[in-house]
Amino acid sequence: MFCLQALVPFFAGAALFSFMNVAAWRLPRGQNPLDGRSACPACGHVLGAADLVPVLGWLALRGRCRYCGSPIPVRYLLVELVGGALGVGCLQRFGPALTLAEGLFGLRWEGLLALVWCGLLGAVTLIDADTMTIPDRLNALLAAAGLLGLLLHPGLWANRLLGALCVSVPMLLLCLAIPGGFGGGDIKLMAAAGLFLGWQRTLLAGFLALVGGGAYGIWLLAARRAGRRDHFAFGPFLCAGLVIALLFGEELLRWYFSFL
Ligand SMILES: [Zn+2]
Repeated sequence: MFCLQALVPFFAGAALFSFMNVAAWRLPRGQNPLDGRSACPACGHVLGAADLVPVLGWLALRGRCRYCGSPIPVRYLLVELVGGALGVGCLQRFGPALTLAEGLFGLRWEGLLALVWCGLLGAVTLIDADTMTIPDRLNALLAAAGLLGLLLHPGLWANRLLGALCVSVPMLLLCLAIPGGFGGGDIKLMAAAGLFLGWQRTLLAGFLALVGGGAYGIWLLAARRAGRRDHFAFGPFLCAGLVIALLFGEELLRWYFSFL
């Protein structure tokens, strides 16, 4: 039963991340993600509806353009699969919706909002990994998602407001003390995304990002892939921490506090 129920959220997530993949390619190039139809970057042929079906389209074409045969990067498939998994994750965490009053695409309204929030973080991850910057526009949309979340839970405004401040303010102070530690985009990201998560999960997200980013930095140094003065994009680690905190925050925090 759960398998059938998960099908629609899976494809909703995969389609959303397919769009975010396009947005992540167009935004840094100054193009509007909503403008015009998708075309093959190699031959310029406009893609048909069958080519745009997430996951299945890539598999049916075995990763090659239908018109010119040039390879479609496996990144497209992977990003869509991650989106599908997050669609199922939001179903698991926020519960199913059976009627339009409850939600859309089989997800409760809050789950759908959470999935869109994950999609924005997906675009942030791809763009930051490619260009080492986080567009202000994406942070503004994340903040808007946080405000919409507040409309669903108006009683939690203090918790959510603290979520916006509890990691971003320490990061800002650290940035002032040690210039160049991380970018202003990272700080704005944690303020905007924290507004949706509340302070407990945002603290957890910051902690997870610190552990993940720290381990990656040590690996870079040990493998001599980077020197002490080099920088790497921290945004993807923040985004991963935020998504893990969204979906598994309660279990992780309960597990942590069982040791105290
Ligand atoms: Zn082509």
